[in-house]
Amino acid sequence: MSKNSSNIMALVPKTSNKRETVCIFGTGDFGRALGHKLLQSGYPVVFGSRNPWPSSLIPKDAEVLSHAEAAQKAAIIIIAIQRQHYDFLASLEETLHGKVLVDISNNLKINQYPESNAKYLAQLVPSARVVKAFNTVSAWALQSGTLDASRQVFVCGDDTEAKQMVMDIVRALGLTPLDQGSLLAAREIENYPLQLFPMWKLPIFLSLGLTAFFFFYCLVRDVIYPCVYENKDYSFFLAISIPNRICPIMALVLLALVYLPGVLAAIIQLYRGTKYSRFPDWLDKWMLCRKQLGLVALAFASLHVIYTLVMPIRYYVRWRTEDRTISQALNNKTSPFDNTNGWLSDSYLALGILGFFLFVLLGITSLPSVSNNVNWREFRFVQSKLGYLTLILCTAHTLVYGGKRFLSPSSYRWYLPSAYMLSLIIPCIVLVVKFVLILPCLDKQLTRIRQGWERNPQYSEQSNYIINKSAV
Ligand code: NAP
Repeated sequence: MSKNSSNIMALVPKTSNKRETVCIFGTGDFGRALGHKLLQSGYPVVFGSRNPWPSSLIPKDAEVLSHAEAAQKAAIIIIAIQRQHYDFLASLEETLHGKVLVDISNNLKINQYPESNAKYLAQLVPSARVVKAFNTVSAWALQSGTLDASRQVFVCGDDTEAKQMVMDIVRALGLTPLDQGSLLAAREIENYPLQLFPMWKLPIFLSLGLTAFFFFYCLVRDVIYPCVYENKDYSFFLAISIPNRICPIMALVLLALVYLPGVLAAIIQLYRGTKYSRFPDWLDKWMLCRKQLGLVALAFASLHVIYTLVMPIRYYVRWRTEDRTISQALNNKTSPFDNTNGWLSDSYLALGILGFFLFVLLGITSLPSVSNNVNWREFRFVQSKLGYLTLILCTAHTLVYGGKRFLSPSSYRWYLPSAYMLSLIIPCIVLVVKFVLILPCLDKQLTRIRQGWERNPQYSEQSNYIINKSAV
């Protein structure tokens, strides 16, 4: 009973305990915003400033003193000053002895200085305990309270107790501390806010390049060719027809590119007979951005759906239907119902609908809020098994779209096949190779390799040696 109650006591926050004073050096944007938030959370705040007198900008419950006076009042000092002004801290060495100095600074460029700002601070004041924190939170977010985007606070430092003290403050402010280890991690933490969608670069550039290629390809085939040979102006195709040709092509190609690196990795592992030697860098990078590639593919697929929905209300489509009906009436001739075409059309639509449904399911399961709630096996089932099923359905959708026209010589213009035929190349390669890889003889071998078996252990020892040597 007593054990239980002590456990319960441990879980109850010590709200009645008075919070320790926190000192902030610098009364700039971040210092003031953090001071305000700390005061709201019950921490007495004292500012250390070059101008130690109250101002209307500074929270009124906070004290403003000189740096030396303010430092004496607290065990934790948050340095809300730009790195280039740190020098004066060396003259306060004696006052700062044993204090926890929190470096929150950011740089303008990635790896701007030879050492991290936190390391530099630790060198300037060697007797202090330096902790890196808060640099990923913006002053605006602290002030406005909309912290959803930056609730995580990376914390690192060599002194465990000091790091714990800072993490307690982070939690008290309603943020989530993430311990990143020793002060060596500060460099990476400082580079983090300077990165601009690092995982999205390859998918975006690839999509832009492929979109531009398919746009010009369709422009040549569908607009320039009829203009040159039939003297027809189809330039209005640029608004809906060509985008609606490019979107499904891009969705299919990018979806195939999500699964291609996995297939290549399997071939490499089978060839090497081990999983213990590193993949080439380009393959590693490609594998890391598969989720982003998939999401871009989903965006193209969604656009394709929207474009398709407006097809019946297009003037060109309505005109063609009316024209055909009127000419049939004038010639007193109707075309008989073609059952094969009926099947092709319905199968094409059904495959597209099912493919898009699974595509959306894949996108939803890649959201952190969903993927965090499924275990590894469930996640793999959705992303791999359902992913391949989506690729099969979307490839079949495109193949059936070609239907009877597929590979017919009349569909070539200037020897160029229809764009949808090009889009089938990568998906078909991925599916055929995957099919070969799941043949029992290869699948068994691959499973063994992935469980740690090696065909030639000497090879991997040698390669590990090479990897280790190059890492040194
Ligand atoms: P700021 O508005 O320019 O304020 C910096 C403060 O440093 C000044 O108000 C001044 O305070 C003090 N200072 C300036 N020159 C000094 C000198 N020569 N010697 C001593 N103190 C000096 O900058 P900030 O936006 O608050 O940023 C402060 C730090 O937080 C930076 O390292 C920044 O990278 C980091 N940070 C900022 C944000 C943000 O959203 N702003 C987000 C994350 C991290 P006194 O006049 O009171 O001395």
